[in-house]
Amino acid sequence: MSQALNTNAFIAGSWRRGAGGVFPVYDPASGAEIAQVADCTPDDVSAAVDAASEAFNTWRLKGPKERAAILLKIRDGLNNNKETIATILTKENGKPKGEAMGEVGFAASFFEWFAEEGRRQYGETVPSPAASKRMITVRQPVGVAALITPWNFPIGMIGRKVAAALAAGCTCVVKPAEDTPLTALAFAKVCEEAGVPAGVVNVVPCSRSRVQAVGAALCDSPKVQALSFTGSTIVGKWLYQRCGSTIKKLSLELGGDAPFIVFSSANIGKAVEGAMAAKFRNTGQTCVAANRIFVHESVHDEFVKQFAEAIDKELKSGHGLENGVNHGPIINQRQFERLVKMTDESIAAGAKVVRGGKPGGGLFYPPTLLTGVSGDMPVAKEEIFGPVAPILKFREEDEVVRIANTSDMGLAGYFYTNDIAQAWRVAEALEVGMVGVNEPMVSTCEIPFGGVKHSGLGKEGSLHGLDDYTNIKYICFGV
Ligand code: ADP
Repeated sequence: MSQALNTNAFIAGSWRRGAGGVFPVYDPASGAEIAQVADCTPDDVSAAVDAASEAFNTWRLKGPKERAAILLKIRDGLNNNKETIATILTKENGKPKGEAMGEVGFAASFFEWFAEEGRRQYGETVPSPAASKRMITVRQPVGVAALITPWNFPIGMIGRKVAAALAAGCTCVVKPAEDTPLTALAFAKVCEEAGVPAGVVNVVPCSRSRVQAVGAALCDSPKVQALSFTGSTIVGKWLYQRCGSTIKKLSLELGGDAPFIVFSSANIGKAVEGAMAAKFRNTGQTCVAANRIFVHESVHDEFVKQFAEAIDKELKSGHGLENGVNHGPIINQRQFERLVKMTDESIAAGAKVVRGGKPGGGLFYPPTLLTGVSGDMPVAKEEIFGPVAPILKFREEDEVVRIANTSDMGLAGYFYTNDIAQAWRVAEALEVGMVGVNEPMVSTCEIPFGGVKHSGLGKEGSLHGLDDYTNIKYICFGV
C-alpha cells in the first residue's frame, strides 16, 4: 500500500469525488490541515447502497470458506500495512502511535476471528411434533448493512463491524466519522488490494454539516436491512427512531458511564495500575473508560497518593508520533470545550484538584485527578470522554452498587477486590454489559462487546457477533 493518502470516497469499487465537494481534516495535536476529503451527499450514499445491493446478489452466494479467504487477506493487508495506517490514524486522531499500531492489530484480529466464525453458522434440526413433517433452520445474511463509526477508534470499530458483516454474507456501506475519514479510506484501500469484489465494501465520508442528511438516507433506504452504529447515545436514539419506518435490524453501541470501584480488600497497586489504563488510555476518550471512580474510605488516601504518583511518572503528553508520548490531545474544539466546562463546574462546586485541572495549549488537556467529588457534580453525572479522573468516597458495598446502577448507561464496569464472594455478588449486581474484576482491559475479538440500558443493543465480536447480520430462517418439509 502506498503512503499517499486516499481522499476520495470508495463506491462500487472505484475512487470517486463526493458530490458535495471536499471538507478539511485536521491534526488535533498541531491544528494543521492534513487533507481535503470527499464530502458525500445523500446521492453518493444512494449510489453506494445500490452498489452494495447489487454486490449482495453474488457475495451472499459465495461459500463461507471462499469469503473467509478474502477476510484473511484483509487481515494480512492490515498487518502488513500497520505502520502506514497507524501513522495516518495518529495524525488525524491524535492518539499515540503505539496505541494506533495496537488498534490496527485489533481490527485485523476481527477479520481472522470472523473468517473462522463465518464457517460455523450452523442451523438446527428441530425434533418435529408431527410424523409427517421435518423441520430445520438455516442462517442467512440480512442484506446491505450501513455501518456508522466514531473517531475514537477509527479502524477498530470499522474492522469489528465490516468483518462480521462480510463473514455473514452481507455487503456494506461505511460512514466514518468526519474527524477520521482518512483511516477509513486507508482501510478501503486494503479491501481493494485484498480482492474484495466491487460494491461489497463502500466508504462514504461526509462533513459534519451533511451527517444528518447522510444518516437519514441510510436509515430511510429500503435497500439497507441492518444498521450498526457506534457513537453517542443522543445520535443512537435518533437513528433508532429513524430506522422505524424500514424496520431495520439494529446494533447500537452507545455511551458508557463505567463505575470503577476499589473495595477495602483490593490490592491497591493493581487497582492504581487498572485505573491508569481504564481512565487514561486514548486520553480518556473511550466508551468503556472508567468514568466514576469509587474508592472505599479505608483505602482512599493511599489510592489517591499512588494514583497521583503514577500520573506524574507514567504519562507523557505530546504529538502521538513523538517517541514515548502516551497522552494525546482531545479530538476537536467541541469536545474540548465540553470537557473544560464540566471540569470547571465540578471544581467550582467543590471538587479538589490533586493533579491537572487546567487546559494545556491547543487541544491538550492534562491528566487530571479530582477528589471530594459528589454524585451531583457534572464529572460524576456525565460521560467525561477525557483525561479527568473523579474520585468518590464510599463506605458500604450495597450503597456503592446502588449508586453505580443509578446511571442510565450500562456498558462496562470494573472493580477491585480480593473477597471472592464479593466478586461474584458485585459482578452479578452491576447493571452493565461487561465487567472487569481486578482487570481493566476487557475487550478482544473473542468476547461479546456491548451494553445494556441506554448503552445500546446487540453484541459485537464473539460467537454472537454474526447475529446482527443474519436472519434465522425456518424451513418445514412435508414428508
Ligand atoms: P461524537 O459526539 O463523539 O462526535 P457522534 O455520535 O456525533 O459522536 O458521532 C459518531 C458517528 O455518528 C460519526 O460517524 C458521526 O458522523 C455520526 N453521526 C453524527 N450525527 C449523525 C446523524 N444524525 N446521523 C448519522 N450519523 C451521525
